Amino acid sequence: DADVEEARQTFTTGLEVIEGPLMAGMNVVGDLFGAGKMFLPQVVKSARAMKKAVAFLEPYMAADRAVDASNGKILLATVKGDVHDIGKNIVGVVLGCNSFDVVDLGVMVHCDRILDAAIEHQVDVVGVSGLITPSLDEMVTVAREMERRQLRLPLLIGGATTSPQHTAVKVAPEYSAPTVHVLDASRAVGVVANLLDAKRRGAFVDENNARHERLRAQYGAKREQPLLRYADARANRLALAWEPADVPTPAFTGVRHIEVPLADLVPFIDWTFFFTAWELKGRVPQIFEHPQYGDTARELYDNAQALLADIITTRSLTAKGAYGFWPAAGDGDDVVLFRDTTRGAELLRFPMLRQQQAIADGRPNRSLADFVAPLGSPVNDHVGAFAVTTGIGADALVSRYERDHDDYHAIMVKALADRLAEAFAEYLHARVRREWGYGAAEQLSSDDLVAENYRGIRPAFGYPACPDHQLKFRLFDLLDARAQGLDLTESAAMTPAASVSGMYFHHPEARYFMVSRIGEDQVTDYAARLGVDKSEVERWLRSNLDYDPPSRPVTA
Ligand code: SAH
Repeated sequence: DADVEEARQTFTTGLEVIEGPLMAGMNVVGDLFGAGKMFLPQVVKSARAMKKAVAFLEPYMAADRAVDASNGKILLATVKGDVHDIGKNIVGVVLGCNSFDVVDLGVMVHCDRILDAAIEHQVDVVGVSGLITPSLDEMVTVAREMERRQLRLPLLIGGATTSPQHTAVKVAPEYSAPTVHVLDASRAVGVVANLLDAKRRGAFVDENNARHERLRAQYGAKREQPLLRYADARANRLALAWEPADVPTPAFTGVRHIEVPLADLVPFIDWTFFFTAWELKGRVPQIFEHPQYGDTARELYDNAQALLADIITTRSLTAKGAYGFWPAAGDGDDVVLFRDTTRGAELLRFPMLRQQQAIADGRPNRSLADFVAPLGSPVNDHVGAFAVTTGIGADALVSRYERDHDDYHAIMVKALADRLAEAFAEYLHARVRREWGYGAAEQLSSDDLVAENYRGIRPAFGYPACPDHQLKFRLFDLLDARAQGLDLTESAAMTPAASVSGMYFHHPEARYFMVSRIGEDQVTDYAARLGVDKSEVERWLRSNLDYDPPSRPVTA
C-alpha cells in the first residue's frame, strides 16, 4: 500500500499507476514465467500484489475511465457435475497476469450457462476444465453444443484426466472451430496468445489439427488389437489361494463415523503432490535443492506450513469420515456384502469390471472381485469401505482470502485441504489395518506410508481398477456418508472437493491394475448386474469402451 501510494503521488490518476508501473511489472512477470525463469507460486503472488494495488487505487479512480489494455477475454468454467478448480483458478490468475480479461463462472457449470455467458460477455475463447472422467463426456457435450449453436470461438480443454488423445479423438471431431488441449497453466498463455493473434493463428491451428490427425490414427491402430471374449476373460480370472488361517477378521462389522484432529493427519501428508499442484516437479526434500526452483519451493513450503499451522489452531477445517467392515464374498465378478456374520442376507453388491485384453505370459485377467474369497468357499472373508473429507470449512476460508484479493492463499487452502484429505485416507487405512488385525505389528515410516508399502489396497471408484464412478452412490449409501457432510454431484464427484473414498481389500496379493478397454459383451453383462440400462453404463464408462455406442441425441 505504501508503495502504491508513493506511485500515486507521482502520477495524475490512479489509472496511470495501473497502466504504467503495475502493468509493466506484470509484463516482466509474464515474460519471466514464459521463459521458465519464474514459477507459478511467484506468478500467483505477483498477481496478488497487482490485485491489492488495484483495490487500493479504486477509491481514487471513480472519475477515471475503465482500464483498457486487455489482450482478449477468456471464459473459464469447471463443467457440470465437477467441483475441482485448483488448476482452472491457477490458469485464470496466469491469464490475468498477462493482461487477459477472465470471466470465471466457477464450478459445476451447465453447458448452456457456459455458452450463454460466452455470448453475453463477448469472450474470445472458451476454456473448460474438469478432473473426473464423467467430465470428459461433458466436454464433448460442450463441443457439440458449440457446433449446434454455430459458434466459432476456440475451445480450450484442460484438467487432470483430459489428454491430447481424448481431445483429438472425442472432442475436436464434434466442433469445426479450433479445439485445443492445454496441458498446464504454463501453456495457457502461449495457446491463447497464438489463437488471438491474426498472424499466428493460422499456422497454430494447422499444427494443432495435424497433431489431432496423428493422435486419431494412433488410437485407431490401438483399437485394432482384439479383446478376449468376456467369458474367456472371466475363465482366466486370478485364482488366489485362500487359507482360512491367513484371512483376518476385523474388530467390528458395520459402519463407524469418525472425526479426527487435523494435527494427527500431518505426518501422513504426501508433500510431493502439493508441489505438483503448483507445477513444481520433485520429491521432498530433494526439491529444495533444485537448481532452478529450489528457493521457490522452499518459500512455497514455508508459506504452506504457516497456513497449515493457522488452519490447525483456528480449526477452520474439519476432518470427518465414515468407514467400516462387512462380511463379503466374490460372486462371479460381483463383490457381495452381507448384512451380518451369519451371511444369511445380502446387504448390497459392487459389480466389478474385468480386464478383457489378451495379456501376455499367461497372466490372469484381473477384477477386484478376485481379491475376495469366493462365495461357497470355507473362508469367511470381509471387505472394508471408507469415505473421508477435510474440506468442510474450506469454502468459507477460501472466500475470506478471495475477498482480500489473495488468490495465493485461496489456492493454497484448496491445495492443503486436498493434501489433508489424502493424508486422512492414509491415516485411516493404517488404522483399518490395525483393526483388521494383520497390520497390528506394522512399523512404517512416513515415506513407506506414502509409498503404500503395506499389505492390502484401497481402490477408489473412478480409478483404473474400478473406473465406474457410479458405484460411489452405492458406497455413500453403505457408509451413510452424507450424515458426515459428504455428498456426490450428478457426475459422482465428491463434495467437498477435498474428499477421498474407496474400498479396502486385505489380500497380500491385492494390487492396483487397469481395467482399460472393455467389450460390448462385458458392458451388457455389467449393466444387468448393476440393474441399469446399457446406455447408462456406456455413458459412465465411455473412455473404457472398445466400441462406439449409438450416439446420443444432443439435448438442447
Ligand atoms: N498419496 C497420494 C495419493 C495416493 S494416489 C497423495 O497424497 O495425493 C493412490 C491412490 O489412488 C490409491 O491409494 C488408490 O486409492 C487410488 N488408485 C491408484 N491406482 C488405482 C487403480 N489402478 N485402481 C483403483 N484405485 C487406484
